[in-house]
Amino acid sequence: MSEMDKKTNLTGLSHAELVEFIEQFGEPAYRARQIFGALHHRRLRSFDEISELPKALRERLNERATASTLTIESRYISEDGTRRFLMKTHDNLPVETVFIPEERRDTICFSSQSGCPLQCTFCLTAQLGLLRSLTPGEIVEQIIIALNDAYGVGEKPLRGTNLVGMGAGEPFLNFDSLMKALGIMADPQGLFIVPHRVTVSTAGIVPRVQELATIPQRPNLAISLGAPTNEMRDELMPINKKWPLEELLGACKEFEQTLKAGERFTFEYVMLDGVNDSDEQARQLANLLNRHDLHARVNLIPHNPADPLPYQPSPAERVEQFKSILESKGVRTFVRRPRGRDIFAACGQLAARRETNKIQASSQLIGA
Ligand code: SF4
Repeated sequence: MSEMDKKTNLTGLSHAELVEFIEQFGEPAYRARQIFGALHHRRLRSFDEISELPKALRERLNERATASTLTIESRYISEDGTRRFLMKTHDNLPVETVFIPEERRDTICFSSQSGCPLQCTFCLTAQLGLLRSLTPGEIVEQIIIALNDAYGVGEKPLRGTNLVGMGAGEPFLNFDSLMKALGIMADPQGLFIVPHRVTVSTAGIVPRVQELATIPQRPNLAISLGAPTNEMRDELMPINKKWPLEELLGACKEFEQTLKAGERFTFEYVMLDGVNDSDEQARQLANLLNRHDLHARVNLIPHNPADPLPYQPSPAERVEQFKSILESKGVRTFVRRPRGRDIFAACGQLAARRETNKIQASSQLIGA
């Protein structure tokens, strides 16, 4: 066990857990409040920066705990302003996070695992296999690092922050850590990013979709469909062999029935040229959703090409035609614009890539 493994990452504790931790130190509860605010509201990354704590306490904390575990290895900046961070865990595993600025809000796409155990054939991350699931602290730290880099340590973001759990990994295979991290980030004394601003995407882990249906405080849900038939989905997303479309869509219906005002539920459909984008497949997809009486919107995502994946994105006219068939059958459809393709930051492109001419040395980073 490394030194770091023995230390508690305080960024991964809820406010209540932090109070408990601090009381074990024989310190009053208000110290926990100070620390929680410093780590999450001011986004500080070391105890030494929390100047309101007595020096002796900071030293004791440094012995037993840590405020941050991720380090930034590289940062890549796209022509469209998207930033991709390649980070490392304390045990040297890659973690990728993408910051996408938009006019009215920023979106941070975080990873839930290092690598991914699922084998979606259109996704580069799949080629890493699962390295390990991330801890709650490692999930929260990704957001802190991205915000510090964009705005400066502790500076208030200029726009609202939305989160999407669509980076590396299958979030629902790390469900407890994910939900804990979201709870910590929702705290008004900290980052205050409420579940309504978070969307989590799953390849279809049916029991967790059912579980999410029972949870009142929950993120928005996106289901990555990728294919309109079991035959094709078995091939593109082998998790389908475990939970085929009927089971998945049955769970989706259960979930849809529990939707409350303001919550969003969507399907994602990656468009692969000549593979899953024909008129016939559009009809099959619409019929499938209608048969299960699902009303969620479908987001069409033109595939992001990445060597050595054998796919190309569907041409724009094909995507439009596919959309109009879905719409003619009453399925609400939206085409998602790819961001950060040039720096391998777009969907399905995260695989700890280092090559690109837009690299910036990590020493230039703020909050690293
Ligand atoms: S698409 Fe998502 S679930 Fe599938 S292999 Fe890639 S990261 Fe994993």
